[in-house]
Amino acid sequence: MRLGSLCAVWVCAITVSVTPETVRAQSPSVAKAAALASVERQGTELVAMSDQIWGFAELALRETRSAALLADYAERQGFTVERGVAGMPTAFVATYGSGRPVIGIIGEYDALPGISQTASTTRQPVVEGAAGQGCGHNLFGPASLGAAVAVKDLLAAGRLRGTVKYYGTPAEEKIGGKIYMIREGFFRDADVVLAWHPGDETKAEHEGFQANVQFVVEFRGRTAHAAGDPWNGRSAADAAELYTHGINMLREHVKPTVRMHYTVERAGDVPNVVPDYARVLTWVRDSKRAGVDTVFARVQDVAKGAALMAGVEHTLSVQTGFTDMNILESGSRLLHENLTRIGPPTYTAEEEAFARALQQATGKDAVGMKAAVLPLKPIAADPPGGSSDVGDVSWVAPTLHFTLATAPKDVPWHAWPVVAASGMSIGHKGMMYAASTLAATAVDLLEDTSVREAIRAEWAEKTKGVSYKWMVPDGPPPVPGR
Ligand SMILES: [Zn+2]
Repeated sequence: MRLGSLCAVWVCAITVSVTPETVRAQSPSVAKAAALASVERQGTELVAMSDQIWGFAELALRETRSAALLADYAERQGFTVERGVAGMPTAFVATYGSGRPVIGIIGEYDALPGISQTASTTRQPVVEGAAGQGCGHNLFGPASLGAAVAVKDLLAAGRLRGTVKYYGTPAEEKIGGKIYMIREGFFRDADVVLAWHPGDETKAEHEGFQANVQFVVEFRGRTAHAAGDPWNGRSAADAAELYTHGINMLREHVKPTVRMHYTVERAGDVPNVVPDYARVLTWVRDSKRAGVDTVFARVQDVAKGAALMAGVEHTLSVQTGFTDMNILESGSRLLHENLTRIGPPTYTAEEEAFARALQQATGKDAVGMKAAVLPLKPIAADPPGGSSDVGDVSWVAPTLHFTLATAPKDVPWHAWPVVAASGMSIGHKGMMYAASTLAATAVDLLEDTSVREAIRAEWAEKTKGVSYKWMVPDGPPPVPGR
């Protein structure tokens, strides 16, 4: 992408997309204008980093080059960088400034397996079977860092006071790196944490994420010749079948917000041997953590019952669990103001054609890009499908979150069309819009004590009497090769 065309659109949008109902929007501060200019100045480098991370497409806890790229950039910009935090070589924290307030900005960069794809409108892997950025995390990491650097520029110039922290958070797609960072005390010292996520529309958070728990059930029986002496066998595969059948019976008696999914990872090798080992990976989700806890207790009984019926032993090991999001109305209002004031990018005819082609290729309505900011809505009782470890962060620090269009409306997520859009100008434009929104919001939080205090007061109210506890198991994070 050529940055020139992007900047033109973007600066123009800053001046014309003013909404009359927001006073702050009508008079952006000098500091905010400077922060937006800083993001703009970094455009070429942010795009280059997003393309490199897109190309690396590194899986959870293997994001070595992606994390190094971002951490090196932060270091060049004068941040103090602590690498390999919380027992994860690919987690890092970059800090600039001193004292309060402390504004944290979250970045992610991990990819998903098996969805390698070129930046084109037909299914075409770069490397067959390799990983791809099907959640747009190659945009997430650099956008957030660009915003952190914009804040740093203002702190360095003495125009703002306080501290900015960039959290480089690995493995969102698998174990939830942020949860291990929370366990080690990160995020808690931030006055406010900012995060965003690539999506197919643009909106300040009002829905949040589902809570979930992810666990492995293993059954161990006794092998035997399946024809010679099956009466001597105790089949772990039978137990796995009974277990999954039990889950499917339970499905009718849980709330509509509950989701249960599993994959049978092992259940024997050949039919003429009674399998003595089976392994089922299971996820349980619900709108809130309490709902997950209730269903999880029943699923644990199902596993116990299945083992009893098959006459085998079983173990259940929790791998991780994500918590629902504590959404702050005051925070979403602030994000909405900045999203609206900055305004979405405009797209070229080629980009719109690219978007429609991806929609056609996946059986969706060919409506093109839908990046306009959606109206601010009241907080929804139940989030739509999907979980994020940003939810956990929202219980240890006030966390503001928004979604921003980086891909065509309705194309399948965690799939090749998102990889394609994340590796070209549609994704880049979304990334720059996200960086600007984060930077502008951070400036508001640093400049305006009353806004910051209102957010903190709402958070204090919503966390009163709540004791957050992470769901990751004791011991170090499961870093590959350790
Ligand atoms: Zn994601």
